[in-house]
Amino acid sequence: MAVLSAKLASAALAFILVAASLGLIEAREAGIGIGIEIGARGKPRQREFDYFNLALQWPGTYCQRTRHCCSSNACCRGSNSPSVFTIHGLWPDYNDGTWPACCTRKHFDEKEISTLLDPLEKYWPSLSCGNPSSCHEKHGTCSAPVTGDEYNYFLTTLNVYFKYNVTKVLNEAGYVPSNTEKYPLGGIVSAIQNAFHATPKLACRNGAVEELHICFYKDFKPRDCVVGSSSSSDVLSSSNSCPNYISLPAYASLGAGNAESKISWVPDDVL
Ligand code: 5GP
Repeated sequence: MAVLSAKLASAALAFILVAASLGLIEAREAGIGIGIEIGARGKPRQREFDYFNLALQWPGTYCQRTRHCCSSNACCRGSNSPSVFTIHGLWPDYNDGTWPACCTRKHFDEKEISTLLDPLEKYWPSLSCGNPSSCHEKHGTCSAPVTGDEYNYFLTTLNVYFKYNVTKVLNEAGYVPSNTEKYPLGGIVSAIQNAFHATPKLACRNGAVEELHICFYKDFKPRDCVVGSSSSSDVLSSSNSCPNYISLPAYASLGAGNAESKISWVPDDVL
């Protein structure tokens, strides 16, 4: 249960419950102080978002940063660690590049998604041991006008993730995990554009893909992701942190081949 709680706390960065009308928030918890209105009881309320950003993580890159392990960290599953893009979150965003956060006081309740725990554990795992969010339900509460309750938020996210299978698209285009190959950024972006007819956004660390975002209108039809303050179809400028040739590293056992690296196991109850 500890595993699931921590993992889902991370997944719960997203969840979102209920009606737009419940959009009361603490101003300090908002992603950025834009789009805040005053609600009926004089409290700040965030305006409804413009589009969805499905943020995916590449564990082969992300897990290189792992410095300590806990039962909830999927980077520590050894040969069972994820080898596909995993879900970071389904984020409701504004067209100006900002986003709402923590829109209601609804708390994440694991019981509501008990039937989804297996796929969530596999495809929406935590890749760290950190505390996921300063508020109850950072993104999920802001998606509620479209996705509805907590269960539907998670179910919708899984369905979109399976329908727009980035790992499959890249593999079929020849972009397979490798610790030696470098791939053209433009080729990777084109493969996704060809498959989904929309431009993704990439983020890299040390020349390796770490995040890949695909974006959707509120009816979940693909659209270009927003870059900075405008929607861009300029592939390369949309990927500032990525060089022209990038890698898609295969997962390597933590600490393997690196005498310097010290991966410590930290009991969940001290986190
Ligand atoms: P990071 O600093 O790691 O990019 O982001 C930290 C957290 O900020 C993310 O886990 C996510 O909750 C939030 N965040 C970052 N970028 C975005 C974005 O473009 N849209 C939304 N809605 N949240 C974001």
